[in-house]
Amino acid sequence: MAHILIVEDNEANMRLARLLLVNAGHTVVWAADAESGLTLAREAQPALILMDIQLPGMDGLAATALLKQDPHTAHIPVIALTAMAMKEDREKTRLAGCDAYISKPLRYKELYQVIDTLLQPTTTSPLR
Ligand code: MN
Repeated sequence: MAHILIVEDNEANMRLARLLLVNAGHTVVWAADAESGLTLAREAQPALILMDIQLPGMDGLAATALLKQDPHTAHIPVIALTAMAMKEDREKTRLAGCDAYISKPLRYKELYQVIDTLLQPTTTSPLR
C-alpha cells in the first residue's frame, strides 16, 4: 500500500486510475496540471507518481524532467501514462526520466504489475 499522486487533466481517466489504485489499497492525491502536480509531489511526498504525458501547458515529459532535477522529488518513481504508441515516444519518456511507461487505456493487471515492481524495497535490487 502506498500514497500515489496522479497527474492527469482528464477527469474520467483520473477516476479510472484512482479506482484501480484504491481497489489495490493505495491512497491517492490528484493534480489536473503539471504545475500543481509538481507542488503536490513536493508537499505530499508520494511513493509513486502516475504522470499523464499530454497535459495542458507544461506536458508530462517536462514535468518529469523537473521532478527528477529536484532533490525533494528526484527519488520518486514516475510512471508515464500515454496514448502515444510510437517507439520514439517511449524513448522520449525514458529520456525525460520516467521509470516506467504504460499506454492508455489502462489495464489493471499491467498497472498493478508495474507498481509492484517500482515499489519493491531497494534491498531486493540486483544492483546492490
Ligand atoms: Mn491528458
